[in-house]
Amino acid sequence: MKFDILTLFPDMFDGVLNSSILKRAQKEGLINFNITDIRNYCEDKHNQADDYPYGGGVGMVLKPEPIFKAVNDLQLADSQTPVVFLTPQGKTFDQSLAKDLVKKDRLVLLCGHYEGVDQRVRDELVTHEVSIGDYVLTGGELPAMVLVDAISRLVPGVVGSSKSVIQDSFYQGLLDYPQYTRPQEYNSLEVPQVLLSGNHAKIDRWRRKKALEKTLVKRPDLLKEEELSNKDKNLLEE
Ligand code: SAM
Repeated sequence: MKFDILTLFPDMFDGVLNSSILKRAQKEGLINFNITDIRNYCEDKHNQADDYPYGGGVGMVLKPEPIFKAVNDLQLADSQTPVVFLTPQGKTFDQSLAKDLVKKDRLVLLCGHYEGVDQRVRDELVTHEVSIGDYVLTGGELPAMVLVDAISRLVPGVVGSSKSVIQDSFYQGLLDYPQYTRPQEYNSLEVPQVLLSGNHAKIDRWRRKKALEKTLVKRPDLLKEEELSNKDKNLLEE
């Protein structure tokens, strides 16, 4: 999967893209990043990518010409390639949107800054507007990294075991079950016996019950959307 990222601050991506799982996934050719500095497409002598808003008011707005040129240079022959503008006004990003977007071979992520981008860019170039939550950040770089991370780990092979992705919170509509590792006892706090039993049917049952209970307590809204089987209902009532 290829991510084209358009930003005024390419350096911000270094740490995230060149560490841990995303770094390995790039080495293995599973994901690929092309970061474009919008400023390289500014044609005035000061390389100015932003300007004052028409009509007055505070802040600066990213100019349309450099962004149009940068997107044009990406040669998106395939009109199926989503051009995503990160904005607090967009659809809130969640696991279901991550699952939809990972089906694409290529994604363009446009990071706004200052007061945002000229509306003509949004009207003409952008196919999706995505927010990472109801708060306002200084730029679209952190939101772009959030999308890249969440989508990349759904690309087959990026996370060691596809089973671990499926059991993660939200993937199947529930929160993840409680996890334990060694030592078996720490400060008199013990790992639940069932996890030491070696009985996988019992362990699966316990984990499902705990995932249901956790979801019921922490995110009852998710359970409302989930079609619970009779087996699940019985587990919750036990
Ligand atoms: N004036 C804009 C508004 O009220 O919608 C906010 C501009 S914000 C200060 C600068 C840039 O940060 C935005 O253009 C967008 O790219 C990014 N941004 C800020 N908050 C965001 C969020 N919650 N989700 C996605 N992008 C966000």
